[in-house]
Amino acid sequence: MLQEFNIILVETSHPGNIGAVARAMKNMQLSQLRLVNPKLFPHADATARAAGAEDVLRGARVFATLPEAIADCHIVFGASARDRTISWPAMTARQCAEAYVGCLSPGERVALVFGRENSGLKNHELDACHYLLRIPCNPEFSSLNLAAAVQVVCYELFVAGGFQAESAVGDRGEEPLANAEQMEAFYRHLLETIADIGFLHPERSRTLMRRLRRIFNRIHLDTKEVDILRGIFRFAQDHNLKS
Ligand code: SAH
Repeated sequence: MLQEFNIILVETSHPGNIGAVARAMKNMQLSQLRLVNPKLFPHADATARAAGAEDVLRGARVFATLPEAIADCHIVFGASARDRTISWPAMTARQCAEAYVGCLSPGERVALVFGRENSGLKNHELDACHYLLRIPCNPEFSSLNLAAAVQVVCYELFVAGGFQAESAVGDRGEEPLANAEQMEAFYRHLLETIADIGFLHPERSRTLMRRLRRIFNRIHLDTKEVDILRGIFRFAQDHNLKS
């Protein structure tokens, strides 16, 4: 889904950070990792911190220089925590995600370049970038850990990729949503129950029913939830008849 987005790490010193980046990427469905002249790679610390994302590490491509690493990319972002004396056009991680996720033509690739742990990206490296990429944060303490910075950017890409729509369905669990016919039967049963228990006469309950419909329309009941609620209605009706 996010194959067009390449995470590029420049001269990373700590192999553990490379592993943590792989994990952050895989959590957000990214897999394309490129390393520019890493100090130690492959390394046991990288594998350990990848914690299940070893496939991303195995697929990582190593390059000697940044120009080689970004050669086949069409849009290049340089992630930077620092204000620069020369100003580059900047985008936040969210703006970048909203501008490019789902908006690339086939074959187009985006490079997201992250700098060294101790000194970030050099100005000549930013010269190769179309935009600075910023993660908004505390201006007094703006430098995130490398893997944390990658995590935030990948998260924004993932969210922009429309995960919300999918999970709104997924979050309901396995049951299908109740259809309109089932909901009408549910409302008839609710109205009947309201009358049976003497809460309100059906003829005077039009406004109340409208409000109740609004509540249930907001929450999208599934068939199982409808069954549970109708079970409660039945119980209330039976109980009321007995008393
Ligand atoms: N000490 C370095 C920052 C190192 S953090 C410096 O002074 O620049 C390692 C990398 O994480 C940075 O090079 C940058 O690519 C990314 N990063 C950290 N915080 C960031 C932020 N707030 N916005 C964008 N990228 C950030």
